[in-house]
Amino acid sequence: MLMEENKPLAPFTTFDLGGPARWFVQAAGEDDIVEAAAWAKQRAVPLFVLGGGSNLLVSDAGFGGLVLRVGLRGIAEAGAHENSEPSSPKLYQAAAGEDWDAFVERTVQDNCTGIECLAGIPGTVGGTPVQNVGAYGQEVASSIERVRAFDLKARAFVELSAAECEFAYRRSRFNSTERGRYIVTRVDYRLTLAGAPTLRYADLQRAIQESRPEGAELSLVEVAAAVRRVRRTKGMLLVEGDPDCRSAGSFFKNPIVTEEQLQSIAAAGGKEPPRFPAGPGPENLGRVKVPAAWLIEQAGFTKGYALGAAGVSSRHTLALINRGHATAKEILALATQIADAVEARFGLRLEMEPVLVGF
Ligand SMILES: Cc1cc2nc3c(=O)[nH]c(=O)nc-3n(C[C@H](O)[C@H](O)[C@H](O)COP(=O)(O)OP(=O)(O)OC[C@H]3O[C@@H](n4cnc5c(N)ncnc54)[C@H](O)[C@@H]3O)c2cc1C
Repeated sequence: MLMEENKPLAPFTTFDLGGPARWFVQAAGEDDIVEAAAWAKQRAVPLFVLGGGSNLLVSDAGFGGLVLRVGLRGIAEAGAHENSEPSSPKLYQAAAGEDWDAFVERTVQDNCTGIECLAGIPGTVGGTPVQNVGAYGQEVASSIERVRAFDLKARAFVELSAAECEFAYRRSRFNSTERGRYIVTRVDYRLTLAGAPTLRYADLQRAIQESRPEGAELSLVEVAAAVRRVRRTKGMLLVEGDPDCRSAGSFFKNPIVTEEQLQSIAAAGGKEPPRFPAGPGPENLGRVKVPAAWLIEQAGFTKGYALGAAGVSSRHTLALINRGHATAKEILALATQIADAVEARFGLRLEMEPVLVGF
C-alpha cells in the first residue's frame, strides 16, 4: 500500500473542490482495508472512506486524517443464464470499487431487471447502499441481497442482509445509526432475468416513446439509455466539460411530509405542491414526498442563480454547482441561503444530501 501525504482531494470529487487529505491510501483488496484500518487505529487518526466522490462536500481545509479510497474490483455471477426461464433470479456479487453505471450497463445487457432506472448515477457500487441510491421509481434497497463490509468496531468482516441494512429514503444504517462503522467491500444484487422494467415516471415514459418505433419490443438496454438521456437534460449525468455537472447531484433531500404539513405548504405557497408516493415502510404511512426543487423555486430561486462562484444548476434547481474555483464555504453559504428562504416561506427545513468531509 502506498501511503501518500497531503493529497489534494478535489480531483477525487465531482464538485471538484475542497482541500487535501493529510494521508491518503488506495485499497485494491480486503487485506489493504484491514491494514489501513489498523494503521489509522494505531495512530488514533480519523478514517474517511472514499468511493467515487460523487456525494461529498470536502471542506476547504481538507481532511486531517486518513482517506481510504476503495478500489476493489471484480464481479461474480450466479443463478440464471441466458437460457433460463424468464423471471429467474440472477445474483451479482460486485466489488465495492466497481463503477456503478458500468455495472448497471452490464446487468441490462444481460437482460436483468431491478436497477435499470439507476443508470447514469455516478460513483461506485460500494457507495450505493450507503444512502440507498434511488431514481425514477427504483431504490437499491429493493435489489440488494447482502452487503459485505469490514466492521471497524468488531475488527472483522461481516455480511449484512438487506433487512439488517435498515434501508429507508436516502438512508441506511451506514449513514445513520452506524455512520463510519463499516467499510463496504462487496454488494450482492439479486436481479430478475427478463423481468418487466420499472417505467413509473412520465418523463422516462416520454423519452422511451420518442426514441422507438410504434409496437417495437422494448429492451432494458433502451430503458437504461433513456434514463441517461433524461438525466443529461437535467445536468444529472456526468458529461466531460458540462459546467452543470460539477455538483454532487441533488443537494437537498425531498421532504417527506404529513397531510397537515402538505396543507400548510399549499397555504403558504398559494397553490397545491406536486407530490409523489413517500415509499414503503411504516414510517411513511399517510405521508407524501414533496419535490425540494419546487419548494426552492417557490422560495424565489431560479435555475442559474449564482452566489459568487457557487450556483444553482442551469438545468435543475436541486443541484448546486461549482461555477469554477468555488470554495466549500461558498457552496455552504448558498445552501444556507436556500434552506433559510424555504424555511421562512414554508416552515420546513431542507435536509442536505451530500456528506460533509472535514467540517
Ligand atoms: C450528477 C450526479 C447525479 C446524481 N444522481 C443521484 C441519484 O439520482 N440518486 C442518488 O441516490 N444519488 C445521486 N447522486 C449522488 C451519488 O452519485 C450517489 O450517492 C453515489 O452512490 C455515491 O457513491 P460514491 O461512490 O461516489 O460515494 P462517495 O461520494 O465517495 O461517498 C459518499 C458516502 O458513502 C461512503 N462510502 C462510499 N463508498 C463506501 C464504501 N465502500 N464503504 C463505506 N462507505 C462508503 C462515504 O464515506 C460517504 O459517506 C448523484 C451525484 C451526481 C454528481
